[in-house]
Amino acid sequence: MPTYDLVVIGGGSAGFNAARTAAELGLRVAVVDDGRPLGGLCILRGCMPSKTLLYAAEVLHRARQGARFGLRIPRADADMRALQARKRRIIGEFAAHRSRELRTGKFRLYRSRARFADPHTLLLADGRRLVARRVLIATGSRVSQPPVPGLDRIEAWTSDDVLDLDFVPRSVLVLGGGIVACELAQFLRRIGSRVVLVQRSPQILGDHSPEAAAVVQQALVDDGIEVFTGTRIEGIARGAAGGVSIRFRHAGRRVVRRAEHCFNALGREAATTGLGLDAAGVRCRPRGQIDANRWQQTSVPHIYAAGDCAGPVEIVHVAIEQGVLAARHAAGMRRLRPIDSSLLLRVVFTDPAVAAVGRTERELAARGARYLAASHSFADHGKSILMEAGRGYVKVMADARTGCLLGAEIAGPDAGELIHCLSGPLALRSTVFDLLRAPWYHPTLAEIVTYPLEEIARRIDRKS
Ligand SMILES: Cc1cc2nc3c(=O)[nH]c(=O)nc-3n(C[C@H](O)[C@H](O)[C@H](O)COP(=O)(O)OP(=O)(O)OC[C@H]3O[C@@H](n4cnc5c(N)ncnc54)[C@H](O)[C@@H]3O)c2cc1C
Repeated sequence: MPTYDLVVIGGGSAGFNAARTAAELGLRVAVVDDGRPLGGLCILRGCMPSKTLLYAAEVLHRARQGARFGLRIPRADADMRALQARKRRIIGEFAAHRSRELRTGKFRLYRSRARFADPHTLLLADGRRLVARRVLIATGSRVSQPPVPGLDRIEAWTSDDVLDLDFVPRSVLVLGGGIVACELAQFLRRIGSRVVLVQRSPQILGDHSPEAAAVVQQALVDDGIEVFTGTRIEGIARGAAGGVSIRFRHAGRRVVRRAEHCFNALGREAATTGLGLDAAGVRCRPRGQIDANRWQQTSVPHIYAAGDCAGPVEIVHVAIEQGVLAARHAAGMRRLRPIDSSLLLRVVFTDPAVAAVGRTERELAARGARYLAASHSFADHGKSILMEAGRGYVKVMADARTGCLLGAEIAGPDAGELIHCLSGPLALRSTVFDLLRAPWYHPTLAEIVTYPLEEIARRIDRKS
């Protein structure tokens, strides 16, 4: 039986980066992946296809707003077939590149499905067995089916279906108010669908502040999306004349909405079914994700878990960091540092976008931290005014005594790019004073960051 120092199950963002790292560190490594094609969620059905389509929808939206810029653009429509052809070409190239990297890496690739026979033996679907000194589980996630009455009896779309649409649906009911729900609801609306978004909790984008969520919610409403938050869904059913209908309680009354299609964007869960975790003795958390410590070791120390299957967040840069950390730990590298949760970076690619890095104000308040917060509105900023992009704000949080950055939040144009003005300095433990020594070019969107930095600096100077 082939024996390896490390067998990685799953060749997505976490698994591929772990395998590459471990092989470079001299381990004998194998990757097992049965995905067809190879590539992982980010490339095939996640970040890259969604951002390709969202960007196209944003261009379409700008074209339709031509009159605001003094432009005459008589007509702008989505050509869904062309949109899909472009997406397929772009994604195809990324996937081909990843596939090449997996096939030509310094590790052996097995194109099969793996499960544990025991803590050191993996059984492949094609009958082969691999012996592993250590194992990394990086099997990703899949769409979950929450217990919404009737949801299991209709054929709801998943994000995979929405990303593959080659026609403009007349109307879509979007269930959920998380990142994928908001991003794709806006995409659907902008290509021409009537969209109703129904969210159970009182706020969309629950991982972000109510202030940031409100900016996005207003933009969705202004785009023409009907948004309901704080609902209690009573039932979903197939309509007599086709389509679906949903019944829910909202603000003390019963609401009924009908649409041609339903998009289930209620969330994802760890893809661990059939992995034989029991045979390996690996424990999961109550929500199904694999329990891992700060080195990504599971309850069985020679078995690691990284990426969506381990959580606690489903974000590519975290999946990569976790995979690399697990590989280094498995290789016995010394002086490793666990992943620093105080640097977590999160982006929502709606228009306007939302991005946050580091501690949120909610976290800082809960920890009793002594911090100062200052914000500045895009409505009062030169570059965003000339871009007709005055919605939203930039907010910076810093230590009240030293001015050391603690976190930042941006809701507004290009927030996903702008947040990187602050994520690097945050990682380097910079202060607002350090950042104000840097040159900030005028007129740029980025220079808006200097206003909250200056305000915090002034408040600290006044006290000292
Ligand atoms: C619509 C959408 C948009 C997103 N947008 C963003 C974004 O903009 N930014 C961001 O950071 N994140 C985004 N994400 C999340 C991001 O895609 C994931 O966090 C990331 O891809 C997870 O990587 P992974 O390595 O954990 O899993 P995956 O990439 O899913 O890899 C898992 C691999 O394991 C293989 N596998 C599973 N089980 C087995 C088995 N038993 N045997 C063998 N192989 C197996 C699968 O074939 C797959 O290749 C998005 C997700 C979705 C759904």
